[in-house]
Amino acid sequence: MKKRELEEGKMAGKYRVLDTLGEGGEGRVYLAEDESLSRKVALKCIRQAEKTEEEIRREAAFLRDLRHPMLPVVYELFYEDDWYLAMEYIEGETLQHYLESHGRVEEAQGCAWADALLDVLCYLHKRKPPVIYRDLKPDNIMVCRDGMLKLVDFGGAALKSYGERCVGRMAATVGYAAPEQWTGKGQNPRADERSDLYAFGKILYYMVTGADPGKPPYTALSIAHYNPLLSAGLERVIRRCIEEEPEARYQVAEEAGRDLHRRDLWKRKGTAGGFLRHVEKQVYLTQKIGVGL
Ligand code: ADP
Ligand code: MG
Repeated sequence: MKKRELEEGKMAGKYRVLDTLGEGGEGRVYLAEDESLSRKVALKCIRQAEKTEEEIRREAAFLRDLRHPMLPVVYELFYEDDWYLAMEYIEGETLQHYLESHGRVEEAQGCAWADALLDVLCYLHKRKPPVIYRDLKPDNIMVCRDGMLKLVDFGGAALKSYGERCVGRMAATVGYAAPEQWTGKGQNPRADERSDLYAFGKILYYMVTGADPGKPPYTALSIAHYNPLLSAGLERVIRRCIEEEPEARYQVAEEAGRDLHRRDLWKRKGTAGGFLRHVEKQVYLTQKIGVGL
């Protein structure tokens, strides 16, 4: 199928194209403007060759019904030579870009972001039927100007009840997707809530170590290898999320959240790390109080 790309200044539906925001597997994402409302939107082109009309309509319909501060609002789906999904434009940068340019974040920041990601996973997993995101990775997460995170790219998301039918078009990214999402010999790839928790664990690992699990050598060394100040409790949460066997992982997002909140219960052996962590915590608390939070 011939690729049709929109040029700046051209119209698609009622939107004027201003710029290109990104390009991935499915087609381009444009920054565009609804001139009647002077509202900027993100316009995602969905290549029909890669999806059936039914799949596109289903994706748009479930996005339309989702309401969460970390998910973009969907405005409309329309067809004009290609399918386009107009949605809330999120100003910011991808978490991937953020981590590449800023490096790892402090434990407190990583855990605050982790908490937010667990909250949105919890929301999606509790929908009826549950929504499994399936392609959670730093490229699909935006860091907004105010430091909040938002999820974009629902291309890979599946309603759990459709899980079996989505075989063969499994969105998965090396380094983030759980082992069960890759086709084994004679087996069908499958994803459930625990697969999203696996990817979440990899993202949390990346945030606090600065080592991208999506790039070679793909190994997950102990987080203390990168930063001995990181707590044993945090390491425990990450390890449990990225267990190879889904049964060995947290089964639901709340469980991971609970351990994240009480991570101080687990201590690293040796006193130096513990002492330094104590100092780091005091500094963090002082900063927090200092800015009046
Ligand atoms: P793909 O299926 O190609 O990976 P994505 O939906 O992830 O498509 O979009 C590709 C890139 O476009 C993202 O990494 C992000 O930089 C940008 N993007 C996507 N949606 C939005 C949005 N709503 N607001 C701002 N930027 C977006
Ligand atoms: Mg993407």
